[in-house]
Amino acid sequence: MERILIIEDDSTILYALSELLKEEGFGAAAVKSLQEAFREDIREYCLILLDLGLPDGEGWAFLERLHAEGKEEEAPPVIILTAREEERDIIRGLDMGADDYVTKPFKTGVLISRIRAVLRRRGKAMRSTQALTCGNIRLDKQKTIVTAGGREISLTAGEFRLLQYLMENKERTLTRNVLLAHFWDNDGEFVNDNTLTVMVKRLREKLGSGSRQYIHTVRGIGYKMEDADD
Ligand code: CA
Repeated sequence: MERILIIEDDSTILYALSELLKEEGFGAAAVKSLQEAFREDIREYCLILLDLGLPDGEGWAFLERLHAEGKEEEAPPVIILTAREEERDIIRGLDMGADDYVTKPFKTGVLISRIRAVLRRRGKAMRSTQALTCGNIRLDKQKTIVTAGGREISLTAGEFRLLQYLMENKERTLTRNVLLAHFWDNDGEFVNDNTLTVMVKRLREKLGSGSRQYIHTVRGIGYKMEDADD
């Protein structure tokens, strides 16, 4: 059974969440503080639900530790579950590597579908080897070839990497900072905010009007690539 770790100090929410997850066929384990969370072997879980306001600190510290210990690769996906709904908190959470952000009070159906979407995405990412697809776009990592509707598209190295990163994180909102940091890490090459905007614009143009709908602008936050049309 797939188990989900809930990091949440509110007993009422904790109880409701545990029951909900069990009904949906997941196992659930709960901890009520950061210190308890740090003692868990997170590799045993398929996903983590993280509250931000905890008695011994903020949920950010949990994400920071994953980052500091370089554990993101082996860590399960994290969904932040919080009453804070300000854009800057959402951006901060996504910037720090959270896979999604759900605000309280939440509709149980919505939370479950977000959980399933994150798990699906993670499963696909693990399986994806050489070819990535999104709608009629196909990217072959090995051969570094991109086609849209079977037509080969000529991209610069930067555009190719941007598209690959968007496709590897399909259905996930990537903040501008995450995208910029990704380029920085890979190349030590400076890509600024304007360059990013221009690259996305060129990429959309090259992929053709038929694929314009695949790269979505998430207003004020960043970009997201999706199969579905608007
Ligand atoms: Ca709390």
